[in-house]
Amino acid sequence: MQMSQKPTNLPYFLGPEKEKKDEYKRVLTDTIEAITDSVDDQGAYQGATVEALQQALAQFSLLPKQGIGWEALLEQVKQTILPHFLRTWSPNYMAHLHSPALLESIASELIIATFNQSMDSWDQSPVATEVEVAVVNQLCELYGYHEGSDGVFTSGGSQSNLSAITMARDWYCSTKLGHDVKKEGLPPSYHMLRLYTSEVSHFSMEKSAHLLGLGYNAVRKVPVDDLCRMDVEKLNAMIESDKQAGLLPFCVVATIGTTDYGSIDPVGALREVCDREGMFLHADAAYGSGLQLSPTYRSRLGNLSLCDSITVDFHKMFLLPISCGALLVKNKEHFSVFTLHADYLNREEDEEEGYTNLVGKSLQTTRRGDALKVWMAFQCRGKDGYGKIIDTCTENAAYLAKELLAHDSFTLAIEPELSSVVFRHNGSCELNKRIRKELLHHHQVVIGQTVYK
Ligand SMILES: *Cc1c(COP(=O)(O)O)cnc(C)c1O
Repeated sequence: MQMSQKPTNLPYFLGPEKEKKDEYKRVLTDTIEAITDSVDDQGAYQGATVEALQQALAQFSLLPKQGIGWEALLEQVKQTILPHFLRTWSPNYMAHLHSPALLESIASELIIATFNQSMDSWDQSPVATEVEVAVVNQLCELYGYHEGSDGVFTSGGSQSNLSAITMARDWYCSTKLGHDVKKEGLPPSYHMLRLYTSEVSHFSMEKSAHLLGLGYNAVRKVPVDDLCRMDVEKLNAMIESDKQAGLLPFCVVATIGTTDYGSIDPVGALREVCDREGMFLHADAAYGSGLQLSPTYRSRLGNLSLCDSITVDFHKMFLLPISCGALLVKNKEHFSVFTLHADYLNREEDEEEGYTNLVGKSLQTTRRGDALKVWMAFQCRGKDGYGKIIDTCTENAAYLAKELLAHDSFTLAIEPELSSVVFRHNGSCELNKRIRKELLHHHQVVIGQTVYK
């Protein structure tokens, strides 16, 4: 699309000059207006098909010889992009664990993007580093960890789980096999290592096992009970027979809120198994972690501080913008698996002088200052405000489940523990699939899908 208007010269950056500040404000104000103008009903999705969206995008030359400038660009975004975004705040948007973003957290995103700090070294993110340190301390306290614990912000649950399983693998190899994976790579018996997680756990277990050189076969899927929770008796039996076969059980991953059902594995019983067997216990609480702020339902999670590490996602129940997750670790020594020193970045002498370089705890180097979102939202809403949000969400799910149970045409898969309600229409599978697509393309309603049993 060619615009006849001559592009204005947009400054590159914000700066102290009045003209730059004015232009910064203008660009953002225009954007805010375009966004708010584009929201004029309660629909979750305007309904466009794959082909329609591809065609709409095909009209643009993405890297034109000459830039079209801000005004023309905004016009195109208004025409082509904004109308088609999902409205995550819509009551009709119920798919996945994908949440709307609290208003104050959108302001935090603006601050994060404007200042563009990088969380690898203190001299790239002075106050943002201290914000992350403070938020991590608060989180350790919230989940019942004491002195000696630590954490790091991540891109989300998948990265948190990969990081935790790396720690578990290296800890096991070092303490049980006397082998330093960091220096020497995998031990000769690497193909004997086994990780146990429920059959309805997240696929990042297999992905991590692959990336860590252990392979999918290292992941043992433990059957679940009627409520989709890991069956501890069966876990014990699997560990026993694996040991008989000469295999090396090194880790249990409890899912605290399974992605599909919101079911919660029993951490108390799993801690006993891990203590008896000398295994690492990780809690994948990517979904369920938000319940910790619920005064009413918190006890459903069990005592997460029994776990060696905890995955927390803020872009799910905490209603913060993607991406925002953390990994909390009971014994901070485990972070040494990610520590390396680069002369240009995080010299050891920095730490002696009191500067914190967070890169030593992360898989990432350059990293967004996502902790600010938690810092701002926690203060803005407080324990009471967040508690109410999470209680209401949990109660809405219970209400929907009750209505479905009372209705002849629907079957509820399991009683919800968190916010997910898994149900089906009593007609054929085909009919169920068709209902979902009809809702998506013709009724502005988005619901998720899965396969139960
Ligand atoms: C969502 C989810 C993940 C993955 O988290 P991302 O933030 O999407 O990477 C892992 N485990 C569980 C149980 C989840 O629900």
